[in-house]
Parts: sequence; structure tokens; C-alpha cells
Amino acid sequence: MQTQKGTIGVTTENIFPVIKKFLYSDHEIFLRELVSNAVDATQKLRTLASFGEYKDELGELDVRVTVDAEKGTLTVSDRGIGMTAEDIDKYINQIAFSGAEEFLEKYKDSANSIIGHFGLGFYSAFMVARKVEIRSLSYKDGAQGVRWECDGSPEYTMEAVDKGDRGTDIILYIDDENKKFLQQSEIDALLKKYCRFLPVPVISGKEQEWKDGKMVDTDRDKVINSTQPMWMRKPADLTDEDYRNFYHELYPGQEDPLFWIHLNVDYPFNLTGILFFPKIKNNFEVTKNRIQLYCNQVYVTDSVEGVVPEFMMLLQGVIDSPDIPLNVSRSYLQSDTAVKKISGYITKKVASRLEDIFKADRPDFEKKWDDIRIFIEYGMLTDEKFCDAAMKFLLLTDTEKRHFTLEEYRTLIEASQTDKDGNMVYIYTTDPTAQYSYIQAAVAKGYDVLLMDGQLDSHFIGLLESKIEKSRFVRVDSDTADRLIPSADQKSADLTPEVRDMLTAMFRSQLPNVEKAEFIVTFEALSPDAAPVMITQNEYMRRMKDMAALQPGMSFYGELPDSYNLIVNTEQPVIKRIVDSADADLMPKLRQGIDALAADNAAIKSLRDSATDGKLNDEQQKQVDELESKAADQRRSNDDVAAEYAKGQPLVKQTIDLALLANGLLRGAELSAFINRSVSLL
Ligand code: ADP
Repeated sequence: MQTQKGTIGVTTENIFPVIKKFLYSDHEIFLRELVSNAVDATQKLRTLASFGEYKDELGELDVRVTVDAEKGTLTVSDRGIGMTAEDIDKYINQIAFSGAEEFLEKYKDSANSIIGHFGLGFYSAFMVARKVEIRSLSYKDGAQGVRWECDGSPEYTMEAVDKGDRGTDIILYIDDENKKFLQQSEIDALLKKYCRFLPVPVISGKEQEWKDGKMVDTDRDKVINSTQPMWMRKPADLTDEDYRNFYHELYPGQEDPLFWIHLNVDYPFNLTGILFFPKIKNNFEVTKNRIQLYCNQVYVTDSVEGVVPEFMMLLQGVIDSPDIPLNVSRSYLQSDTAVKKISGYITKKVASRLEDIFKADRPDFEKKWDDIRIFIEYGMLTDEKFCDAAMKFLLLTDTEKRHFTLEEYRTLIEASQTDKDGNMVYIYTTDPTAQYSYIQAAVAKGYDVLLMDGQLDSHFIGLLESKIEKSRFVRVDSDTADRLIPSADQKSADLTPEVRDMLTAMFRSQLPNVEKAEFIVTFEALSPDAAPVMITQNEYMRRMKDMAALQPGMSFYGELPDSYNLIVNTEQPVIKRIVDSADADLMPKLRQGIDALAADNAAIKSLRDSATDGKLNDEQQKQVDELESKAADQRRSNDDVAAEYAKGQPLVKQTIDLALLANGLLRGAELSAFINRSVSLL
């Protein structure tokens, strides 16, 4: 063969500077590309041999990556099929595409896409090398060795050469900016990252050992990869121990995984992998130890957004598929139908595996529930299909740490927690310590209280309400225990309007000023053993405020003060005493005022009644306005009398403060006043 000179077939003048410039950030992938090519060439030879098309000795088929710091070269060698001069011409010289620059401009953010898409794998070598040399001997009978060389300009040289051994050496003359790729440690790290599960042994450097106080090379070759990664093997051949070891190999320093799922599909797409449920300790680990995506055992990325459903980003492990179009942009990935199918498949598989584990070993599942709960709740909230599947193994936990399926829980509370409209009332607590007294009261009434203290629970409760027919969730402190589950024969406080007004004024006057809080005073005939005064927070309003805190655009609710109900228990002995003495001592003082107010109101009413067609004339309107303002003054003055009286009744303030105290609302000066008052009452 004569020395051949030619121009590499690209339409742009010089593509290499462009490659260098745009692919800067992902420099290191050149090694992945070259080693993958070497592995491919080796696999092809194996295939040919298995079909009898190659009859000679295969011999050692390792791929070797050799650093020669002195010569400044990095060499990737294989003993695969090799290339003839025609092959090189066809596969290396003719990079047949047009408009390279526009293309690169368009995809400049995604180095991977250019490289894989247009068979530029080999040319990525020019990202780090000023000169690249190929020495190759094809497996074909009587093949002639070839040497090809190119210095990064479109001109190459190709000539015949003696090469004793079948296969290909790719020799990179590393350029000055990329000297780090001449360090064995750097190469080791890259090979570990991209090549640790390649199907052909990859050898680089020597095993080391400790000798005379330092690490020295032995004469044993260092094999970088394990050629039979766990996920490519049959689940039946693997033990739990194998899975755990593999997990620790992937993510050193982690606790044992909770569960794992071995994926294996070949229709309608190809996918293998193992997903692990980690024991999540903190958010940092979630972002660090992510699922790794492989393409035929070549590591591609650990940015799997779009390939797996969002909630599975909490899982760890490996997914390997030749069918995922890895070399395209992320937005394309997300709209790709194959990817959608894969994502749907993984969801289904994860759900059914969880159901199996639940059925096979419920105690174990319960033990791990706290750790997997966030994952399942997140999945249910974000993925409808997963949600439906998970309804079978979702567990509810009560304050006694007992676990129930939705079915079981329904059976448990059906008799005792159905309200007068036939709705099941699920009572929950978000903070068993802060809501302790309410939980006690609810339990005393024979109710069960669910623990809903997870990060996602405020959203999750809404989801459950929509999924469980005829259900309602109420927080344990949203009402008094007696009224959490409204029944038909609810007893209301038996007070005359006059007494009710008087007591309202008394209690309202003794309320402290709590910032951003508003109290509505009501009276209920609760059990005599219940607290004299209770504070509850309306379920609906509280949820709106909780949601507002999490969602922008709902700030209206966020601005509202917290609205509490101050419920006075008229059956409680202390309250009875307060009511009796107010009736005896305060009522006579109020008598005149109450009568005056009643007279004003009566006058207003008769004026309104006398209006023709319900329309007041100007004169009547004026009289009504005057009377109304007089009535308002009267009401105020009545309230003042009640307030003055209440001030001399320490029990009023004391019972209110007890309720505030139970809710953590009594602070500062109010708290110390309470303590002093308590002492003097003793
Ligand atoms: P791709 O691998 O995506 O096809 P490359 O530019 O990496 O693109 O390689 C182009 C072609 O060159 C390969 O398809 C293969 O036919 C050939 N080739 C590259 N490296 C080797 C090798 N080490 N041994 C044999 N053939 C090779």
C-alpha cells in the first residue's frame, strides 16, 4: 500500500477546533468513547467466532489503557476485529454530514448529543490530543497492518505498517492543556466512572501493594471492571447478600438498602437494572447517590430526570437500556414515547414489587414503613397510576404506632367514627406532643387518632379524602372531642340569649392579645370532666393557611390571622360557678342596660315592619340610623360593665389561660401573670 494522504470528509474547513470549543465541559468522555469502541470491536470478534466466521485463536481479549507520561501518550488497545485501510477510510475518514457548524451551534449545550448522534465518538479524542494515531490489524485473513495519523487538521496520513497482533491501538498525543490525562490516578478515576461494568475486562496500570512504607506497583495487571454486573444476571442466581454487596459497591458508606427491585424486560423495549430503596438520612445523600443510567453496560449519566418518574428520583441503583435515546437533549427525552413507556413500566414494576413484599412479609414491611413512607406518599401524590396501585399497601399509622391498611382502618373506625351524614371521620394529629391533651380526650371517647406528621402529609390528607369514598379528615384539635364527629343528638349549651351575651362579653374582655390570632367565643355543653375552656382551630381555615404557606399565589389566606374558637364548657363545675355568680351579681347591674338595648331593638324592628313594601322613607331611615347608633353605644356600655365585673373574677382569666397554655399560646408577660395568679388562687 502506498502512503495515502487525504482530507477528512467534513464540509466545514476544520471541525476539530469546533469540537474542542463546544465540547469543553465534557472533555473526559473521550475515554468512554474510545474504550467503548474497543469493547465493541472485541464483542464483534467474539460474535464472529461464535458463528464460525473467525477460526483462529481468540487469545486474551482484554482492553488495555496505557499511560506513558514520558512520551506524553495515552493508548487504548484492543484485540478485537481491527480495521483494514478500507475500513478506516469508510468509518474514520468519511464523517459524512453536512452543515456541521450549524449543527454544533444548535446542540452546543449537549456534548453527548453531538458525539453519539453523528458517530463522532472516535473524534472526541481530539478534545484532549494534538495528534491521534491508529495502528490496526484486521482479523481478516492476510490483512495488512495500517497506521493512520492526524494532527487535528482535516489532513490525515495513512500507510501500511507491520503490526504483529490483531486488533487496534489508538494512541493519543495528549496536548498541553490536558496533561492530567497522563496521570494513572486520573485515568483510574475515569475508568471507574464510565467503564466499571463493561462486558470485556479493561486493564489499566498495575495492582499495588504496601512495601517498605509505601504503595508500589506489583507485576499484576489491574482490572478495572466487573464484566458480569449484577443486573445482567438472573435474579434466581442471586442472594440477598449479593444485592446488598452490589449496593455497597455502587454507593460506599451507605446503610443497607431496605428493598430492591430487579428489572428485566425485553419487550416492547430492552431494559435491565436493579433499583434500591435506600434508607434516606438526609437530602444531601438523595442528590449525591442517584440512579445511574447505562447503555449496554457503559455508564452514561446519573441525571435520569425524564427517564424514571419523578418520585423515583429518591431511589438508587442502575438502569441499563440500549433503547433509551441517550444522546439527545433532555426535553426530547421527556417527550419520547419509548421513554414514557419505560417510565410507566418502572412505575408498575415498583408498585407490584412493593405489594409482593407487603404480602410476603408484612412485619418486615411495617418495620421499614417509616423509611419508605415518604417515597410512597410522594409517588401517590405525583403519579396517578402508582397511587391506584399503592392503595393496596399504603399503611396508616396511629398514635399507638399500629399500622393499618386502608381497608383495615375503615373496619376499625366504622362503628365509632361515622358522623350523622354517614361520613367516616378520620381523626389525625400532626404533632402528638403539642396536641397531647386533644389526643387524650379523643381516645377517651373511644376514637382512634392517626399520626400524620410526615413532610408531605398536609397534601397527602387531601389526596386520601379524594380517594376514600365518604371520608373526612379532621385534626384532633379542630374541635372538642365531643364534636369531632357530629352526631344527631348534639347537646348545645342551654343559655338564654341574655346570659349568653353577658358571658361572651366577660370572656372576650379577658382574652389576651395574641399576635395574628383571632378568637371567637362559643359555649357548649360538654362533659363535666372536660376542660372548662378549650381552644380549637377550624380544620378548613387551618388547611387553607397551611396550603398558602406552601403555595405562592394563595397569599390571601396566608395574610389572615389564625382564627381560633374559644369554647366555654357550660357543664364544667368551675364554669357553672362563674355563670351562677355572674347571674346573681352582674345581671342586676346589667338589667337596666339590657332593657334599654331591648327597647331600642324593638323600636328599630317596629319601624322596619311599618315600612311599606319593606322600603323605609327618608324620615324613617334617619330614625333607624339614630336608634342603631344608640343601640351600639348601649351594647358597648353593657359590655364595659361585664368587662369590669370579669376583671374582679380571676377564674375567668384563669380558665382562659389554662386553655391558651395547653396550646402553647400563653407567653411572656401573660404567662408570668398567669403563674402569679395561680399562686394567689391557691
Ligand atoms: P461509533 O462508534 O458511534 O460508530 P466512532 O467514531 O466511535 O463512531 O467509530 C466509527 C467506527 O469506527 C466504528 O463504528 C467502528 O466501525 C470503527 N472503529 C472505531 N474504533 C474501532 C476499534 N477500536 N476497532 C475496530 N473498529 C473501530
